[in-house]
Amino acid sequence: MEIRRKPSWLQKKVSPAANADMERLLAGLSLHTVCQEASCPNISECFRQRQATFLILGAICTRHCTFCNVGKASPLPADPQEPGRVADAVQRLALAHVVVTSPTRDDLADGGANHYAATVAAIRRSAPETAIELLIPDLQGDRKALETIQHAGPNILGHNLETVPRLYHIRAGADYNRSLELLRMAREIAPEIPTKSGVMLGLGETEEELLAVLTDLRGVGCAYVSIGQYLAPSRRHQPVVEFVPPERFEQLKAAAEGLGFAHVESGPYVRSSYHADRYHAADART
Ligand code: SF4
Ligand code: SF4
Repeated sequence: MEIRRKPSWLQKKVSPAANADMERLLAGLSLHTVCQEASCPNISECFRQRQATFLILGAICTRHCTFCNVGKASPLPADPQEPGRVADAVQRLALAHVVVTSPTRDDLADGGANHYAATVAAIRRSAPETAIELLIPDLQGDRKALETIQHAGPNILGHNLETVPRLYHIRAGADYNRSLELLRMAREIAPEIPTKSGVMLGLGETEEELLAVLTDLRGVGCAYVSIGQYLAPSRRHQPVVEFVPPERFEQLKAAAEGLGFAHVESGPYVRSSYHADRYHAADART
């Protein structure tokens, strides 16, 4: 599969030297990040600022989304020491805001919910001032698992819709309405915790479909949204249909703000955890 040549606004360089310190710290604590596993194009910028998104529950996913670079095989059991190591890293990096995510763990009875809760508790113990954002998988819509996570008390609960419903075949095993319902339930369980979602552009979605997704998100009380360009990690992945120009991201940001989102990040390099500290819980409204 041919990868389309990137336009001028998508030429960000990865600098291995800028990544070295963070890579050493993460390797020393045996921690995974989505920055590394997903080959995020922002890695040098974020690592230079000592920002990272921790990938708990291993780096192997039970789903097979065709756009994603996270490994797919047989996942390992949850490591009970991992929450403590994440907390250690948060403390050492003196993070004001941390994002924690995981692959989907359909093999675990609770979808990994208790491990998320243990990670929140460990961070709270060692870095009580740090705002904790969780970006969770769909938990197969399991309300009890979601309650476990919400009762742990993250500052922001995120779950990405990723794309429009017509293109959900690229998210094998996922269901648009189930994901939306998860976000609705999250607010029902813990109305004080704002929710966040993210979508990628350039997969063949239409403007109308995208606006419908943003409207659906507001319909379930989602406060924050990130809108970024999809970039294919390799020739084996879902191909890019379109490189969306920066001005269209600006228009979408204005449209999303018009729908009532409390904070919108929209731009070619935006990922759900990019500039995550800009979404502030205090700004959230339903
Ligand atoms: Fe990591 Fe998020 Fe930054 Fe990408 S945008 S490098 S995933 S913190
Ligand atoms: Fe990647 Fe998430 Fe899909 Fe797993 S569920 S393949 S981690 S996008």
